[in-house]
Formats: sequence, structure tokens, C-alpha cells
Amino acid sequence: MSASEQATTQSEECQKPFHGEQVAEFRIEAHYTIVSGRSQPLLTILKLKKTLTKQNCTMIIDFHTHAFPDAVAAKALPALEKIGNIKAHSNGTVDGLLASMDGAGIEHSVICSIATRPEQFSAIVEWSQQIRSDRLTPLASIHPDDPDGVEKVYQLHKLGFPGIKMHPYYQNFFLNEQRMQPLYDALSETGLFLVPHCGYDIGFPRTRCADPAKILELHRNFPRLQLIATHFGGWKLWDEVEDMLIGRNIFMEISFALKYLSREQIKRMLNKHPSDYLLFGSDSPWDDQSESIRQLEKLHLNDTLFSAILGGNAEKLL
Ligand SMILES: [Zn+2]
Repeated sequence: MSASEQATTQSEECQKPFHGEQVAEFRIEAHYTIVSGRSQPLLTILKLKKTLTKQNCTMIIDFHTHAFPDAVAAKALPALEKIGNIKAHSNGTVDGLLASMDGAGIEHSVICSIATRPEQFSAIVEWSQQIRSDRLTPLASIHPDDPDGVEKVYQLHKLGFPGIKMHPYYQNFFLNEQRMQPLYDALSETGLFLVPHCGYDIGFPRTRCADPAKILELHRNFPRLQLIATHFGGWKLWDEVEDMLIGRNIFMEISFALKYLSREQIKRMLNKHPSDYLLFGSDSPWDDQSESIRQLEKLHLNDTLFSAILGGNAEKLL
């Protein structure tokens, strides 16, 4: 079984995340721990909260994270680390993600699971329903080879899923393939958003299965589809993103991108894009959530744009 397959196999029941008041209590405690250990992160979080409160946006939402059932995480993470030659910043479990969120002052995360085979659909849906809470929104995943893909979109809609995650490299498809059209139609019809991996992938040869040209084609052919382009429109294809996608009404989730780009290019791209189409994401555990917030903070964007990216825009989508 491959790492990605293990990553989505169902395992024993996950521990339930924190709820309601418990969340608030836990968060205060977590912040207190941080202040006694390392004062700098807390100050950053408090400063950030102040800015956000001023803008009537008190929520930081991470639109791109990954987590796995406990037993799966222990095996999947080392394997995925090897594929991408990259080190994880948490243990890959739901508790690990929640702890990372508490440390970073993040209220809510979207979890992007990937079905690497059509049969994994049900296990992902079941697990997602178990872990769904006021702090976590798990997305489902449909495999392009699934003959019942369209039906499943409607099923997910009924179950209250806001969207699906797809990954052209792990699911072996090109974004603009003809066979994908019925699925895109169903997503457009139901209003479920599509979060595809965009651009190259760190663990795969450089095939253009989800490059900016294909994203633009998708946007043009399916104008009602709520498309969320990850990794700032296309990992390691940002000049093309700037040429083709910036300025259009396509959601851009900005994980795993800022550290590769010059400050000038990031600011130019962020400022030229419609401000309500930008979403904060970290790709946790593959990047550190606190560090991802700091990268954005260091750009000194105006307060309105900053809080819209960090949570305001995502809040409207979820
Ligand atoms: Zn990811």
C-alpha cells in the first residue's frame, strides 16, 4: 500500500476535538504556556488579534491543512516526508493540528483529504464527519476514475460538505480533461467548491497537469464553479500565474508560496488580485502555521486586506 493510500485508509475512531467553551479555555491555557516559554509568538498573536478585532474580523482561518486518522498518521507521515524530501511540522493527527492551531492563534482549519483510489471516498467521508467541528472543516475527495463521481457530488451536498479536494498528481488526471466536465458541472450546480492542487508538486516530476493555463481554461469553461487555486495559483509557476490569473475572480489560497517569491512580486500579485478572492493557507503539516502567518504579516499589507486574507474571505465561503 502506498503512503498516500495509507493516508486515507480508515482507522480506529479519532479522538473528538474540543468544542465550544472548552475551546476558549484550552486556547487561553495554550497562550499562557507560550508566554512562559517563548514570549515573542504570543506578542505577535496578540498584536494580530488587535488588528483583526479593529477590522471586525476576529477569526484566523487556515484554508489548506492536512490531517490523518491517528494510526494512519504514524505510518503516512514518514512516507510522505520521504516522497517530498520535506519535514513535517506536526505529527499529522487531528490533535497535532489542533495544537498547532492553538500555538498559532488559528481558530479554524480546512482539512484537505485526497482519495487516491475511488473506493476511498466512503472512508474519507466517514472520518470527515467524525472530526468535523467548530474548529475543523474537512473536505471530501472524489477520484476522477469514480464512475459515480457526479452522484457523489450531490450526496456530499446533502451531507453538508462545502467542497471537495482533488490532486492531479495523486489522482492521475489533467485539470482540463474532457471526462472531468460532468463533475465540474455538478460542482457548479450544487455550489460545492473545488480545491485542486495547483502548479507543480514537490514530490513528482514536472508534468503540467494543473498549470495556470489549465486553471484559466477551467475558469472560462465553468464560470459558476467556485474554484480555489492553491499555492497562490500554481506552485513554482508564479510568473505564469501573474500573467494569466491575477486580477480575475478566481480564489487564490496562498500556502507554500510566499517563501519562494520576492517581496515585490508577492505584494504586486496580492495588490492586483480582487481582495475578496485571497485566502490564507499553510499546507500544515508541510509548513508551520505560525511561520506562515508571520510571512504574511511581514509584508505590512493594509489592515483591511490583511484581515480579509487571514480569515474574512474564508469565513464567507465556509
Ligand atoms: Zn496540501
